[in-house]
Amino acid sequence: LLARETAAYADAHPLCRAGYDAATNLFGHVPMTWMNMWAGGFPLQLDRASGNRVTCLDGVELLDFALGDTGAMAGHAPPATVRAVARRMGELGGVTAMLPTPDAQWVGAELERRFGLPRWSFTLSATDANRWAVRLARLVTGRPKVLVFGHCYHGTVDETFAVPGPGGTTVTRPGNVAPPVPVSETTYAVPWNDLSAVEAALTHGDVAAILTEPALTNIGIVLPDEGFHKGLRELASRFGVLLMIDETHTFSAGWGGATRAWGLEPDILVIGKSIGGGIPCGAYGLRSSVADAVLARTQSGEADIVDVGGVGGTLAGNALSTAAMRATLGEVLTEEAFTRMVALGTRYAEGVQAVIDDLDLPWSVGQVGARAEYRFTRPAPHTGEDSAAAADEDLDACLHVALANRGVLMTPFHNMALMCPTTTADDVDRHLAVLREVAAALV
Ligand code: PLP
Repeated sequence: LLARETAAYADAHPLCRAGYDAATNLFGHVPMTWMNMWAGGFPLQLDRASGNRVTCLDGVELLDFALGDTGAMAGHAPPATVRAVARRMGELGGVTAMLPTPDAQWVGAELERRFGLPRWSFTLSATDANRWAVRLARLVTGRPKVLVFGHCYHGTVDETFAVPGPGGTTVTRPGNVAPPVPVSETTYAVPWNDLSAVEAALTHGDVAAILTEPALTNIGIVLPDEGFHKGLRELASRFGVLLMIDETHTFSAGWGGATRAWGLEPDILVIGKSIGGGIPCGAYGLRSSVADAVLARTQSGEADIVDVGGVGGTLAGNALSTAAMRATLGEVLTEEAFTRMVALGTRYAEGVQAVIDDLDLPWSVGQVGARAEYRFTRPAPHTGEDSAAAADEDLDACLHVALANRGVLMTPFHNMALMCPTTTADDVDRHLAVLREVAAALV
């Protein structure tokens, strides 16, 4: 099936293929490595996109359930964001003046309303926000290490690129590019859902922060056990460690992310990607006590941070990204939009479960609000390691290409489907019908 579908994919996309060949000739693969993971041998090349539809250079339109790996959770080119960005670029100009605009205050207040944390700062990406969060946690606690969960992805922050090794050790996650020091000097990596491993690591007394997603999302969805987050909160407080929640993907849980939907209590919250409606951005929020501690350290001269409201680099919080965030949060990713998107996420997850049941597939499906994902293992994985062991690149590739050939776009490296404000029930049903047809051909 994979061979047949790959041949059909190549036939349908000659211009995309030619564009890819030209690009790889130019860059020698290196700066575009994620493209090389694309099933079918080459990625689609984007011509245009609108809402939940993308059109490739060959003029083929697809229903987009990948949505830029959540970067386009607001849909492609949402009109309100386009208007705000056009106005900022054109009429108002001054995108990189290093002067704040009222949009920044509006967005900070809106993020507080949604996530409950009162002090916000902007960055260029979620990776950048995680990097800052780790630095500030070290500043506040005076401790060097961060605790992460195996296969929980937080961007290319070296300290977080770690997995549990043999005998409770921490090792670099395979594939990390040139880790600067042995990762065990900066990090404890423990299995997801394992509170006793967390406690054992915190007992060493050198951990500044626990950094986690509410659910693992980059190794398939792996949900937390009942009481896991409560346990993390309790352990963090007991050991004087900051609890940092990365909501970059799990914002799909609802209007205030999993933090609001599940009642989490972070000390620092990180978010990026989707809140800018496609314009690069990131943000982190601090509990007042953490922000005050940062200020106290800077005022004592111990650290040289100019201002908690403006940390983060020349382009961080630029007027274009804050205009985009204001329009996206204010008019696109609204509470009403999330209600519809989450209902569609449930329709999709239930539909996938019906395919699994009807065809008796050894798969499971996980859902975080507007996002759902199937994994080739049953029961659902309990740790990142379980989920990694269930990976099947050929099956992934086969599904990805066969679905693309039938007008449905999934992420190239996992089977994530995300709903955006313009996704309809008909779109979900079409996706499910295609999935059923392809899965039936596999059994
Ligand atoms: N945090 C999480 C949970 C992510 O999934 C990702 C990227 O997939 C990031 C952070 C990093 O985002 P970016 O690559 O936009 O910096």
